[in-house]
Amino acid sequence: MSDLRPVGGTKLLIGGKLLDGSGGVFETVDPASGERLGTAADGTSVDMSAAIAAARTAFDETDWSNDPAFRARCIRQLRDAMRDHIEELREITIAEVGAPRMLTAGPHLEGPVDDLGFFADLAEAYSWRTDLPIAEPLGMRTRRQLRREAVGVVGAITPWNFPHQINLAKVGPALAAGNTVVLKPAPETPWCAAALGTLAAEHTDIPAGVFNVVTSSDHQVGALLAEDPRVDLVSFTGSTSTGKAVMAAASTTIKKVFLELGGKSAFVVLDDADIRAACGMAAFSVSVHAGQGCALCTRLLVPRSRYDEAVEATAKTLGGIRAGDPNDPRTVCGPLISERQRERVERYIALAGEEGGEIVVGGGRPTDGGAGFFIEPTLIAGVTNSSTVAQEEIFGPVLVILPYEDDDDAIRIANDSPYGLSGSVWGTDPDRIDKVVSGIRTGTLGVNGGTWYSADAPFGGYKQSGIGREMGVAGFEEYLETKLVAYPA
Ligand code: NAD
Repeated sequence: MSDLRPVGGTKLLIGGKLLDGSGGVFETVDPASGERLGTAADGTSVDMSAAIAAARTAFDETDWSNDPAFRARCIRQLRDAMRDHIEELREITIAEVGAPRMLTAGPHLEGPVDDLGFFADLAEAYSWRTDLPIAEPLGMRTRRQLRREAVGVVGAITPWNFPHQINLAKVGPALAAGNTVVLKPAPETPWCAAALGTLAAEHTDIPAGVFNVVTSSDHQVGALLAEDPRVDLVSFTGSTSTGKAVMAAASTTIKKVFLELGGKSAFVVLDDADIRAACGMAAFSVSVHAGQGCALCTRLLVPRSRYDEAVEATAKTLGGIRAGDPNDPRTVCGPLISERQRERVERYIALAGEEGGEIVVGGGRPTDGGAGFFIEPTLIAGVTNSSTVAQEEIFGPVLVILPYEDDDDAIRIANDSPYGLSGSVWGTDPDRIDKVVSGIRTGTLGVNGGTWYSADAPFGGYKQSGIGREMGVAGFEEYLETKLVAYPA
């Protein structure tokens, strides 16, 4: 067992107080060793109800929603507290998430912490009230003002794969917009959220009840956020199947729903691209964080005329990537989060074989992985886009390579998916690239390795990849209501 503890402890944050869970504690596991990591506060429905009550009272009875300058100051305090504890947070993130140390300097930790500043700045700079032109509806001269106001109490439900990024991409804009928040993280990664709660309680002026954190071993504790009439908006990131359950539960009270869900994104290599370089990049990126990223491209679309060359180049890169110790600064592919997740990935790999596919490289557990939840980076060839492994999200370092006939066929295959979250297009002819970019129904696309992630860039999905956008001004406005006020002019 590790000596690590979440920054400041393992408490819930409810109504400004750091509390034990009324369900006691639950154990967490280090995915790199398979051993017990420690414990986290086990919040129950009683704790969740208290957290929702605290958030409701703070929204209804404090001036939080009317004071953007104060909110900006509090959010910067939270960012600075995280920066001051960044090394402790880094160790927790590696231990609890199995996040490769190399990635913590970017999207796992430092990146999202810095991004809090964007939302603090936005709270100050945003046009909360704008005048529309004088109008004469029904013959009455009228002055109209458009006001943007906080939605109210936000329930934020997050997954385990990028906990800081996803927690902060909800908490940052929701608080900046003037809402109060109850955060419910995944049972696999309670420490990252508990640290956020503790730092908020101990190092910021955020008023009691404005920000609450309820860790729990019980998924149904999260479901309460979707059901409870005191919650005005539920912001969920996770699997599409859970997203459907959240949306259904939220419908009983017609609360706003914001969903960031799964993906099965296409990496399209046009026939005028450097095929070997492009396939190498596709292989590398699907291995990052053991493929546990919703926006990673997991279908590699290559011209049929160069299929064999593409398979060979992809296999060469994938075969050279070792799934290993996330603490090793050279590791990009760490463990999967749990034994359950590894078994799920292995089931898909076996299914590929049953559906006539070929495991070109990988497919097994590395021999030196000990009891950690490692899986080798894997390439599946010889299947069509209608196969299960090309249609369903696997959430592991598994790439499916598919041939296409021409550019239109590549677009058709890319779109033949229930998802539409991300994608990548590689080529040299700008007109052909632009046609493919326009044709693919997806929320984000990188061209020739262009990186779309940043605080000001809206991220989200078409189709069953979600509803709404996270990050950017669009992500901030998800947490706002619109009020139109008319005056005689
Ligand atoms: P999950 O759907 O199992 O769980 C996500 C969260 O929902 C957890 O906090 C869980 O406790 C909670 N939950 C489970 N059942 C619930 C219910 N009935 N009501 C309310 N909350 C419930 O997802 P996961 O396995 O933690 O994460 C992996 C999934 O997340 C993948 O499908 C991945 O694509 C997706 N994901 C999407 C994005 C995105 O931005 N689109 C980002 C990261 C992960």
